Amino acid sequence: MPNFIILVVEDEDAIREMLIVVLEQAGFTVQAVATAEEAQHFLNDALPDLILLDWMLPNVSGVEWARRLRKESIYQELPIILLTARGEEEDKIRGFSSGVDDYMTKPFSPRELVARLRAVLRRSSKHQWSPQVIAGDLVLDTEQHRLTIGEQNVVVSPTEFRLMQFFMTHPDKVFNRTQLLDQVWGRSVYIEERTVDVHIRRLRKILETYGREDLVQTVRGFGYRFSVTKHLS
Ligand code: CA
Repeated sequence: MPNFIILVVEDEDAIREMLIVVLEQAGFTVQAVATAEEAQHFLNDALPDLILLDWMLPNVSGVEWARRLRKESIYQELPIILLTARGEEEDKIRGFSSGVDDYMTKPFSPRELVARLRAVLRRSSKHQWSPQVIAGDLVLDTEQHRLTIGEQNVVVSPTEFRLMQFFMTHPDKVFNRTQLLDQVWGRSVYIEERTVDVHIRRLRKILETYGREDLVQTVRGFGYRFSVTKHLS
């Protein structure tokens, strides 16, 4: 089964813990936070496959945060399932349905939650990206979240995966840090340009294990380039 990453945003400890258990048992990788601010912080570093978002959160509500996300192009297609408590106005929720992919009313059965989640993931991964990107002997499977080099499975974090996805779909072009931030992380306010360098370093270290650190090249004074052919610069 593909290794999907679910970001859970829920301020009630008991429900959050329950969601972690249920989703992990269903085979998902789970990241859980209690506020929209923490969730935003998480997004600065990684892109999940789906967000399970509580409606009522302290400070910024789930609905408000989802609205903000939808304004950024990188998050427009990111699946969001909204969690609501019984008693919250159903009409309002339906009215908001354009911004989220589905919603569930608490309490819900774990089985139903997993089924709805899978349905949303299936729908989203179909038209989001083409499933495979190939560059030389590298194959990046966006549906299965898998990167292989010459049939060897390469273990990368979600951010490094996104970075590779961007590089592999834009080979032989040079990008500066700002461009990479915009394309891979989205226009987030908290992130610094040196974060790009940190992730490039990590990515190179991983590629080095396969003797392929030369795939991501530094272009002095400008930025980075991905290429399966060697360049002199
Ligand atoms: Ca809540």
